[in-house]
Amino acid sequence: MTVRVRLAPSPTGTLHIGTARTALFNWLFARNKQGKFLIRIEDTDKERSKAEHIENIFEGLKWLGLTPDERPIVQSERIEAHKAAIKLLLDKGLAYRCYASESELEAMRANQIAQGKAPKYDNRHRDLSNAEIDAFKKEGRSAVVRFRINDQEEIVWNDLVRGPLKWKGSDLGGDMVISRRSSTDEIGDPLYNLVVVVDDSYMEITHVIRGEDHIANTAKQILLYKALGLVIPNFAHTPLILNSEGRKLSKRDGVTSINDFREKGYTPQAMANYMTLLGWSVPEGMNERFSIEEVVSFFTFERVNKAGAKFDWDKLNWLNSQVIHSWTPEVLFDELKNLWVKEEWELPDKDWCISLAELIGPSMTLLNDGVTEARPFFEEPPLEEQGRAQLEVDGVTEAIKSLIGYLDQTPWDGIDKNIGIQILSEVAKSVGVKKGLLMKGLRAALLGKMQGPDLMTAWGLLARIRQDRQRLRSRI
Ligand code: GLU
Repeated sequence: MTVRVRLAPSPTGTLHIGTARTALFNWLFARNKQGKFLIRIEDTDKERSKAEHIENIFEGLKWLGLTPDERPIVQSERIEAHKAAIKLLLDKGLAYRCYASESELEAMRANQIAQGKAPKYDNRHRDLSNAEIDAFKKEGRSAVVRFRINDQEEIVWNDLVRGPLKWKGSDLGGDMVISRRSSTDEIGDPLYNLVVVVDDSYMEITHVIRGEDHIANTAKQILLYKALGLVIPNFAHTPLILNSEGRKLSKRDGVTSINDFREKGYTPQAMANYMTLLGWSVPEGMNERFSIEEVVSFFTFERVNKAGAKFDWDKLNWLNSQVIHSWTPEVLFDELKNLWVKEEWELPDKDWCISLAELIGPSMTLLNDGVTEARPFFEEPPLEEQGRAQLEVDGVTEAIKSLIGYLDQTPWDGIDKNIGIQILSEVAKSVGVKKGLLMKGLRAALLGKMQGPDLMTAWGLLARIRQDRQRLRSRI
């Protein structure tokens, strides 16, 4: 059997971190079993589904490295197959039309609540006579289609994360609506549980892996598989992602969509790594920092936790900094280039930029820190009181002038990385100041203040001074 799994996002918003984590677990399981990872866009909610969200979902998945193995299926294109399944259930007598109006249903629920009962449909139109049906039609009533649920039926499945699960038909809220209202004999728009079953079966899905908020749907869907005579897939329900207070991570927590994380400067490597840890525990001896490809051979549902996964910003930040720190300055510059260009900074030669990346890399946690940290190197920082005082110390401006003079005369090709520090020492010596004083003076001249990032590697610093000669001259 070839394992086939799917992500079934509803394009009613941008790619949510919970959906992305579900995608990741599906992808890891598929890769582990040499199976296929598929996508189905569940766009049956016409009002809330948007093309831009579909685009955002695909883009986010691609960013994370989770591309599908086959052409995605679009649910709304399969509406005829969904309606055919409903018709089959109607023909078999396993489904029926319910003419109860919204206000009648409202009154029914209010009555149940008043009696201290949980509200549920009371199956009132389950066995209407033809005369009753005709009377309702004459009144011009519209009807939904409901699927019969036997209160006594036990629904059991072996959940791959949670082990054996058992539901009773009586816990499923009465006969289930499978199509929206229609005022003709035409079947109205098919609804979620029905279409999922029809489509998962059509796509030959072997394992349905989704969030635990779908457990009750699984019980209903199993009944539909049986009624339609379809093969029931395996199910795995993954834990929800919780905020620090233990509640489901929501918009109120600031960031929930993969976009938000991307915009804040998280890397796809750190996000994918962290999302794997959200609900999956690493085998003993395995480092928590990994690429998702490295996890493939270890991924099993036994290691997926049953309890909700608390979102831990410190760990995500740590992973992100680890990813950034593992890059060479060249790679880091590649990542930062666009961010710097966006700031409308004029980038000097590439070597200089790489030196700057090398300088700021170790103190970066987020990619966006690469903008904050680089800013004083591109924008003239104001000369603050401390900086001005430093430039007034005896010998400082002479030393800087002498260094600039040296750089004016010396061909740049002759200055290699190893001798940068030597040049700084020699220039300081030639004007009779300590190298430390020259460095402080350079800091004041370049940054306008005494705090801030390290200046640069000696070579990078020289390159920078060379680049900035005009500006520095005007300051000293
Ligand atoms: N469209 C559903 C959702 O976005 C997914 C349902 C499923 O995986 O079966 O929650």
